[in-house]
Amino acid sequence: MISVRNLKKSFGDHEVLKGINYDIAQGEKIVIIGPSGSGKSTFLRCLNLLETPTSGQIIFGDDEMNGGEDITAKGTDINKVRQQMGMVFQHFNLFPHMNILDNLTFAPVKLGKMTKEEAHEEAMRLLKVVNLEDKVDSYPGQLSGGQKQRIAIVRSLMMKPKMMLFDEPTSALDPEMVGEVLEVMKDLAAKGMTMAVVTHEMGFAKEVATRVLFMDEGVILEEGTPDQIFNNPKEDRTKEFLSKVLV
Ligand code: ADP
Ligand code: MG
Repeated sequence: MISVRNLKKSFGDHEVLKGINYDIAQGEKIVIIGPSGSGKSTFLRCLNLLETPTSGQIIFGDDEMNGGEDITAKGTDINKVRQQMGMVFQHFNLFPHMNILDNLTFAPVKLGKMTKEEAHEEAMRLLKVVNLEDKVDSYPGQLSGGQKQRIAIVRSLMMKPKMMLFDEPTSALDPEMVGEVLEVMKDLAAKGMTMAVVTHEMGFAKEVATRVLFMDEGVILEEGTPDQIFNNPKEDRTKEFLSKVLV
């Protein structure tokens, strides 16, 4: 699905990503953990070209078919890449002046992916999945944080992405709303979506991740199954990090 080769990213003379190599196969659920400032967000943002990598390659697409496309190459259609790689952030960024239906249907209709009717139908279908069909006419300001984040996920899914990126999707939520968002993500995982998730929710990582990546100072210091990383970490930095977050 995606193959990252020697990905580097600097801001000025600050090298934030120092050579990331990683392959994510279709249907995998990668959870990325690591200390603040280690480059987790920058890594995700490079994947869907919200940041321009300084060097390296990102091969994205159907491996079996054609070996994928190097999306870091000149002339890549950035918008097309972003449509195929949905991203959900800590903050929901819904359009405050649009109701939920319009928030969901705006982009796919504008981009000509669906007719208005098709988009409406798809929005209603997805709202049912996340149990928010009664909010279709509401405005974002009338929703709780957890509800807004579930809508933000649905909004990404409207574009029928091949892969979903989540950057700390529950970190800004009140604790009682974390569960409902994680449930939606688990449901998506169970349906086979390829996912890369930065999160501090270690329970989610243990339950859902096919692989866990520990990032430190701009590199993937260690990676493995949840069992390997949580129960048998090799690196001292991983152990130290886990001892702080698991207390
Ligand atoms: P994490 O998500 O792991 O906390 P980030 O990827 O957000 O880490 O940040 C890694 C480093 O890159 C930090 O030192 C941060 O200050 C720096 N950084 C991130 N984005 C920018 C930017 N747009 N300009 C300059 N520095 C940045
Ligand atoms: Mg971050």
